[in-house]
Amino acid sequence: MRSATRVLVTGAGGFIGHHLVKRLAAEGYWVRGVDIKDPEFEPTAADEFQLLDLRFWHNALQATSQINQVYSLAADMGGIGYITAKLADIARNNVLINAHMLEAARVNGVKRYVYSSSACVYAASKQNIADLAPLKEEDAYPAEPEPGYGWEKLFTEQLCQYYLHDFGLDTRIVRFHNVYGPLGTYEGGKEKAPAAICRKVALAEPDGVIDIWGDGRQTRSFMFIEDCLEGLLRLMASDYREPLNLGTEEMVSVDELVDLACDIGEKRLRKRHDLTRPQGVRGRNSDNSRLRAVLGWEPQTPLRVGLGLTYNWIEGELRKAGRLEHALAYASD
Ligand code: NAD
Repeated sequence: MRSATRVLVTGAGGFIGHHLVKRLAAEGYWVRGVDIKDPEFEPTAADEFQLLDLRFWHNALQATSQINQVYSLAADMGGIGYITAKLADIARNNVLINAHMLEAARVNGVKRYVYSSSACVYAASKQNIADLAPLKEEDAYPAEPEPGYGWEKLFTEQLCQYYLHDFGLDTRIVRFHNVYGPLGTYEGGKEKAPAAICRKVALAEPDGVIDIWGDGRQTRSFMFIEDCLEGLLRLMASDYREPLNLGTEEMVSVDELVDLACDIGEKRLRKRHDLTRPQGVRGRNSDNSRLRAVLGWEPQTPLRVGLGLTYNWIEGELRKAGRLEHALAYASD
């Protein structure tokens, strides 16, 4: 059944945005995707796809015209190497995108607006040990977020709440914890740890070496893309307007993540830790108490299952590009 609701997804050329467009279109929504680039790995499923730079006011106004619901995912972002190197660019670009998008949504009478925030808003002092307590939403204050990227996210969370308070713009705020899955960037500097590790394992000789950033004992939790989409749709449909974690509580160390990828790829690699590389906070995990209470649901996909699907997709891409020949030739020696 075709829905009368007209939905805008910004960042629709990116990883989560592209998947979200596909899911919304499959559910019968009319969808407009906006990005500065087309999706990298397959054509968009959007009814309309506009190439627009949302740092500019007139583009934000055009993007939100005749739209009922906005999923605001556009952002200048990447993995830990990128976000720790580009503080000014990231903060400036994202402030411009989000300030213009919120005001344009207000001017164009958008009914509901989901803003994608991040676990990078959480206070650094609450994440300085590997075996930390899971982060509750209130742990973002007193504010001490990730420089650049995290400060902008925290400020835009506030801006969403000001637009709700002053103008009644019906905003929602989701704090993603490390989303991974197929069709995500897996090299070039903007990829995140799961994709980078899958790529390195797939390209390695069966009993070769893998380079790991940091000592490998830093911890995180990782959410599979399908769970992320389900959570986003449920949040949009809810009446909840405070920040909400969206992640899993399955915390692993980076070394454990590597072991899992090696198991999946059936390789026995020696780990070589590079302590000169950035590794972010020491530990981070999501506390989903509020998520369960608000949405009556939480992410379901075990890391082993989601990582298997991701590994297979990345391996398939590398094979298509003829880049596995060396590893395969070695395996058959
Ligand atoms: P992504 O980089 O794949 O997608 C972001 C998209 O925004 C890109 O396609 C990019 O081209 C687009 N964009 C950047 N500048 C733009 C501009 N000026 N105008 C229009 N589009 C622009 O990232 P993603 O993983 O899909 O993340 C989506 C959102 O979720 C982002 O806001 C990100 O900060 C947030 N988030 C993601 C994760 C994660 O683990 N993937 C974690 C926390 C938060």
